[in-house]
Amino acid sequence: MPICEICNVLDIEDPRAEFQLGEYSALVARADEGCNSCKFFCDVIQTSSRWRERLTEIPGHIVFLASRRLDVRKADRLDRRTYSSDDLELDICVPEDYVGPKDDEVDRIRSIDDTEIDPDSSPKTFQDALAIARHLEISYLWIRDLCSNERDPAASAEELHKLGAIYSNSALIISVRTGDDLNSGIFSTRPIHCSPVLGQKKLHCLRPRMLRWTDAIDYGFSGRAAQERMLAPRTVHYTEHQMIWECAAGYQFEALGILDKQRGSGQVRQQ
Ligand SMILES: [Zn+2]
Repeated sequence: MPICEICNVLDIEDPRAEFQLGEYSALVARADEGCNSCKFFCDVIQTSSRWRERLTEIPGHIVFLASRRLDVRKADRLDRRTYSSDDLELDICVPEDYVGPKDDEVDRIRSIDDTEIDPDSSPKTFQDALAIARHLEISYLWIRDLCSNERDPAASAEELHKLGAIYSNSALIISVRTGDDLNSGIFSTRPIHCSPVLGQKKLHCLRPRMLRWTDAIDYGFSGRAAQERMLAPRTVHYTEHQMIWECAAGYQFEALGILDKQRGSGQVRQQ
């Protein structure tokens, strides 16, 4: 479906450009008529922390995009400065199937049972980890909380020697940064939105900026977690906003597959 006339002329390459996308109900109508770009803007607004609980207030308001911040405002308040929530801040990126030259400024993300656990009584996070391992046809799951004796000093000292072998011989680490505790589980609802190709030259997409590279990975990169990640050949990260694959070839982001040139290979461990 071609994008609508309004979305067709959006100059998203200009970082300071301001656009009015029209009254909210009209935007929804254009999305329903098939404009994937209008649908993207609606999806972002409707799942944003600022508006998702207040959608009934929006009809009659104007949707605008200013300095790549998407928001909704009354028509007589459009000239006010906007402070929209983080999940309404957009970023531009090239589409995964774009084959032309890439823009260094834009293109920073890569176009990447045998168990004693009782599945029914173990914490939800362990159950989910088991489901991931089974789905990947991995037969063994090593869970630090279950398999190590960190509270026993003698056993722990011995175990430190084993760590290198355990992690370097693993298939992958499942790294979880969702939820508050082991009962939160791994699988979470994570809205991931990406526009169709937009702009004057139709070279780029928009997506919520929080789906660009985040500190979600670096956040856990200290102490023991750092040792584990350096030893293991690959890691799959379950973060609040997206799933991220990390291996010697680089990073693959669930939000969009674009080359992470800035960081190069995702490999921070032994090859
Ligand atoms: Zn549209």
